[in-house]
Amino acid sequence: MSNFDFDLFVIGAGSGGVRAARMAAAKGVRVAVAEDRYMGGTCVNVGCVPKKLYVYASQYSEQIEESRGFGWDAAVPAFDWNRLRDNKKAEISRLNGIYNNLLDNSGAEVLNGRATVVGPNQVEVNGNTYSAERILVATGGWPTVPAIEGAEHALTSNEIFDMEQFPQRILIVGGGYIAVEFAGIFNGLGAKTTQLYRGELFLRGFDNQVRSFVAEEMRKKGVDLRFNLNVESIQKLEDGTLSATLTDGSTIETDAVLYATGRKPNVNGLGLESVGVSQAKDGSIEVDQNFRSSVESIYAIGDVINRVQLTPVALAEGMQLVEHLYGEQQRQVSYELIPTAVFSQPNIGTVGPSEEQAVAQYPNLDVYQSEFRAMKHTLSGLQERTLMKLLVDADTDRVVGAHMVGPDAGEITQGLGIALKAGATKAVFDSTIGIHPTAAEEFVTMR
Ligand code: FAD
Ligand code: NDP
Repeated sequence: MSNFDFDLFVIGAGSGGVRAARMAAAKGVRVAVAEDRYMGGTCVNVGCVPKKLYVYASQYSEQIEESRGFGWDAAVPAFDWNRLRDNKKAEISRLNGIYNNLLDNSGAEVLNGRATVVGPNQVEVNGNTYSAERILVATGGWPTVPAIEGAEHALTSNEIFDMEQFPQRILIVGGGYIAVEFAGIFNGLGAKTTQLYRGELFLRGFDNQVRSFVAEEMRKKGVDLRFNLNVESIQKLEDGTLSATLTDGSTIETDAVLYATGRKPNVNGLGLESVGVSQAKDGSIEVDQNFRSSVESIYAIGDVINRVQLTPVALAEGMQLVEHLYGEQQRQVSYELIPTAVFSQPNIGTVGPSEEQAVAQYPNLDVYQSEFRAMKHTLSGLQERTLMKLLVDADTDRVVGAHMVGPDAGEITQGLGIALKAGATKAVFDSTIGIHPTAAEEFVTMR
């Protein structure tokens, strides 16, 4: 046993921190976890979980519309924001309790308070200093809002879930995951939704065809998507209305402005500079392949290292680190072929490079694609369409990328992720029997 108070001191009880703490404690490691805000971190409190609940909520308006063609007559639907928000709050409190119990039961000591690194082996929480053989920084990220005039009137994903009042009109700025997901949420919940993106086409980095297909589908559903535009300033009028002046000189009056313009590593006031931990320009902690920083005793995982900002990646990094430090299995996190979904409406599911990236990587690339109106909409009357794409390296016949826009794309893409990881060839896809009638069967019938 070391002379330190703890073997491992984890800062941040989010996706990565909780997983690392629990796994290490289960191996008999003496672990402390400090958390200053909420158990479970961003994903549980202001990220994946409440977001997905709100996506579900927002889909009912369309489902009610669809049901008519199937013989249903529903009364004019009315949406109660307070009920949704309060039910969501209750569910998140339940999850906070579960996370607390998981940590307690694992034997880790939970310290409620803000932690500061005060030495290579020392952490301060609530005025007490603890020593630890190793420190793990898992402090996540924080939303960034550009310094425009009136930025104080803007909300971020941190506040949007718990708004006092439902905005009848909302302006969403940004063209990444959060912006498109919230455009779908508010549009579905009945707000007049405008989304602004500063470039030609949103979702930079995704497959170009996917990007334009999603834009078209979102517009069909009623989102006012405007590209090549940004906000210059926001003013609050006397009656509380917000007036946003745009780069083309026009103005938009709205009840709320949501900024979803990226997240930066959460390192403010953490004390990293005082112990000489190297950080990149964006503040992210620089680590080696085993998540060790430039200070031998200090490690970092998750959004704070800004490799891939996704919960399952933070979990994988936490598990690899614990195995590396205290286990026998020495495995590296594989950042290749990470499947991901954008819970936009319709959903995007994607694994592997976009067509544009793949063309540069594979000189003989075959592209298979299918675009169709799902069977459900023959009766629902909705004009929504689905897009599926497979990218195949013709030299090896390996499927190197799969993309989908349509209902349940996230669910479908998880299985495709396994196939691609296993190195499946197009011949394997072709010899797989489809499940009929599903949308997913298109992935094995494209020729
Ligand atoms: P976090 O989960 O952010 O946890 C960090 C914790 O550290 C926080 O609880 C924080 O309070 C605490 N902390 C920070 N500083 C200190 C300190 N000094 N002392 C004590 N505690 C501290 N990912 C997906 O995979 N799927 C999704 O659908 C998805 N949806 C998202 C939706 C939104 C709106 C957002 C914002 C993010 C979403 N993400 C999603 C991303 C995902 O939430 C993050 O990638 C993930 O939470 C990162 O985990 P982490 O452990 O690195 O950090
Ligand atoms: P993203 O990095 O995905 O997108 C940020 C967007 O804001 C981009 O469109 C960017 O434009 C734009 N932007 C940046 N700066 C400005 C500015 N000054 N003015 C106007 N627009 C600007 O960040 P998000 O905030 O959407 O999400 C953060 C991360 O969280 C995601 O990248 C993802 O990893 C994770 N996440 C995952 C989800 C999931 O798995 N379903 C859901 C939500 C979040 P440009 O492209 O031109 O740079």
